[in-house]
Parts: sequence; structure tokens; C-alpha cells
Amino acid sequence: MNPNEMYEYVERIANLIRTRVRKAGLANGVQPVQMEALHYLSRCNRYSNTPVAVAEFLGLTKGTVSQTLGVLEDNGLVEKTTDSRDRRVVHLHLTPSGTQVLEQSIPPDVLKSAISALPAKEQRQLEESIQRLLLCLQRANGLKTFGPCRTCVHHQLTGDAQRRCGLTREILTESDASKICREHIPSD
Ligand code: SF4
Repeated sequence: MNPNEMYEYVERIANLIRTRVRKAGLANGVQPVQMEALHYLSRCNRYSNTPVAVAEFLGLTKGTVSQTLGVLEDNGLVEKTTDSRDRRVVHLHLTPSGTQVLEQSIPPDVLKSAISALPAKEQRQLEESIQRLLLCLQRANGLKTFGPCRTCVHHQLTGDAQRRCGLTREILTESDASKICREHIPSD
């Protein structure tokens, strides 16, 4: 594939999506960067819902992220809890209002209808190809992959049909397995 054409397609798709999300967010008084933080927190697991992980995922400084999270908290879209084992660690969770704002904005309807217009087989192939492309880009740039737990090298299926994280040794639920994680290492 021609990289110039690829760049153009990806950029145009990203711009279209970003414009729709930005509009929807602003209609609810939420700035684009705040919307990105909300979206990340809705998808990450319990090891990754900290301010440091948000900064890593968004590629922003801790100061900027701290300000962003402060606004979200002040507006009742995010709430903080303290880690039960380490009181210095703070975890961030979406409030019902935060979830509602997010669900109204992401993914935008224009993307949902464009995807649903493709045959199911093409949808699967496209998703796999985009995932592979993202992984290659992350590896080439030495970035954390933040992939879904079930695709991590540490993800284990135990003999009693349970899921376990080989890194933390904790049991994982079905829902945990689909969330993204800052400790994720691709299994292939
Ligand atoms: S298995 Fe991997 S992705 Fe899942 S919680 Fe453990 S380190 Fe994170």
C-alpha cells in the first residue's frame, strides 16, 4: 500500500471522527481533551485508571492531565477513590453523568452507520488490519500498547476456566479481559 495514500485516508477519517466528537462534547460543555480522558477511563482496567496512566495514554504532561481531571471532577463527570492497598494511589471512575456524556458522543453516529454499511466479513478484516497497523506504529515508536487484556502475554486461562493476570496474580473477570491496560504486552 502507498504510504501517502494511507496517510491521507487515515487523516481524513480521523478528522471526520474528531470533528463529530468535538461538537458533541462541546454541546455538553466538555472540551476535546476532557472527552479523550473520559473515553480512556471508560475502557481501561483497574490497574490503569490513575492520573499517570491517563497521561501516558494521551501523551500529555502530568500537569495538563491533572488540570483536565480536576475540571472533570469539578463538573461531576469523574470521581476519585483511594487505592485500598496504597493510600498514595488514586483511581478515577466515571460518574453516571460522565458515562451519559460519553455515550452521547463516542462513537459518533456517522462512524457507526459507515461501519454498519460494510459486510460483516469486511468489518472483521478491517478491525484486524487497523489493530495490526496500530501495534506496528506503537512498537516503532517505543510506546506502550495499551491493548485489550485478553491479547496480553500475561493473560492466563486457568484449569478451572478462570482468567488470571500472570503479572499481578489476580483473578480477572470476563469484563476485565476486554479492557485496556497500561501493563499490556502483546502476545504475538
Ligand atoms: S494480563 Fe496483561 S493486560 Fe491483563 S491485567 Fe495483566 S498485565 Fe494487564
